[in-house]
Amino acid sequence: MTPELDVAVVGAGIAGLTAAHELRRAGLSVRVYERLPDVGGRMRSLRHEGWTVDTGAEQVASHGYRATWELLRRLGVTPADVPRAGGGVAVWRGGRARPGVGERSAVLTGAGLSLRARRDLAALTAWCGRRRACFDGDHPERTPLGATTVREATARYHRDLHDYLFQPLAGCFFGWDTARSAAAPLVSLLLEAGPPTTWRTYRQGMDFLARRLAAGTEVVTGRTVHEVVDAGGHAVLRCDDGEVRARAAVLAVPAPVAAALRPEAPADERPFLTACAFTPTLKVSCLLDRPLAPAARRPVHILLTPAAEEQLLAGVVVDHAKDPGRAPDGRGLVTLVAAPRQVPGLLDADPDEAAGLLVHAAERYVPGIGAARRHHFTHGFRDGLPEATPAALAERTAFLERPVRAVEYAGDWVMLRPASEGAVRAGALAASRVLSRIGRPRPAGPDRLENTVATA
Ligand SMILES: Cc1cc2nc3c(=O)[nH]c(=O)nc-3n(C[C@H](O)[C@H](O)[C@H](O)COP(=O)(O)OP(=O)(O)OC[C@H]3O[C@@H](n4cnc5c(N)ncnc54)[C@H](O)[C@@H]3O)c2cc1C
Repeated sequence: MTPELDVAVVGAGIAGLTAAHELRRAGLSVRVYERLPDVGGRMRSLRHEGWTVDTGAEQVASHGYRATWELLRRLGVTPADVPRAGGGVAVWRGGRARPGVGERSAVLTGAGLSLRARRDLAALTAWCGRRRACFDGDHPERTPLGATTVREATARYHRDLHDYLFQPLAGCFFGWDTARSAAAPLVSLLLEAGPPTTWRTYRQGMDFLARRLAAGTEVVTGRTVHEVVDAGGHAVLRCDDGEVRARAAVLAVPAPVAAALRPEAPADERPFLTACAFTPTLKVSCLLDRPLAPAARRPVHILLTPAAEEQLLAGVVVDHAKDPGRAPDGRGLVTLVAAPRQVPGLLDADPDEAAGLLVHAAERYVPGIGAARRHHFTHGFRDGLPEATPAALAERTAFLERPVRAVEYAGDWVMLRPASEGAVRAGALAASRVLSRIGRPRPAGPDRLENTVATA
């Protein structure tokens, strides 16, 4: 049977939508199938009575997000649409918030680190600086850190570096257990992204880019794909209501989902697919009747709460400081991020009960948050972020060198980069691989459906 379209993309997250956008620009007919009613995946935002709530990703960086910024420019998005996030990052230590985490001045001001730890931070920064060229975020498997875990890589330094810098960053941003995840992707990402004071957020919610891309793409929402098969030259998608045949398919879903959708994956794909475990995440967004925030010497939009000090929370995000437009005038929006160890249990609990536990714990950092809460939303992702384990690093080269086939993959995990930039890069990479195989469009003929994509 002749394929009904050129490319079928599974997943309307930022990776799938980027791949679809690139392929459509090349003139191919593309359709995206999305399980949920909305696009954006882990960059979805929801809107409620004037609040804009980011369910997953919170920000992007000015630096180290080359593919994202290129895409934004092409879509006519200006930096003004992606303003600087107000405030920096602080870490909780000894009963108060210590600002300046990730800033160059941290070596002098401390940012929660003891004097001896600051000396070690300067030594570590210099060590990385001398090897800067080896920390290529696209190739975390090639850095001088090899396959060491975050815990192993920090063991030779003062323990504050682990307990009050790397563990809180990895725990709050990626839901990582530092004894399991590799140091190379984290260090590469931190070096590329630069200081938190330069980070930005989409003015109208983190789903901004996904919505822009989807506006120019044919997206079928509410459609779950159950299996994807390489039928020798073309791909077949199996859904509840039948099959879709396409010349190529891009599986733009988290690696564990991709592995389940494609049980017959070839031997040069399966080891990486199965090694790419994900950490689950859970956070609770609290819609407040006033703009409460943790007390700190200067404004912060993220307070990291290290495992050394706090069992239940990994951090507190002050969304209304990040972007005043996230909450109505005079109101507040604060998001509580669950500690990695607690997430599996909280995901299985009743969402309101989970919220109650986190809000109770947050009183220590944001006094009065319980009384000021008008409403809350609990957001859980069983596949939250690529865990980037040493096993995944070891399998990546073979995966990247696999031949191009009818079924391709996209997603942050392909780049082993636990950030939306990884998803955008992987989407563009998948598109170029598909194009290298099926080329530009065939001339229109009786078998070929006209591209039904609406233009933005
Ligand atoms: C809590 C949290 C905080 C984060 N913070 C940041 C941040 O501040 N900055 C940053 O840059 N990144 C951040 N990230 C990471 C960022 O969100 C991801 O890297 C990015 O969104 C991944 O996009 P993706 O397209 O690869 O995957 P996804 O967004 O997961 O997209 C996959 C899509 O596939 C759909 N799908 C799944 N199965 C099927 C199926 N069987 N059939 C059809 N559709 C299916 C899903 O519903 C989803 O829409 C964060 C992530 C989380 C979870």
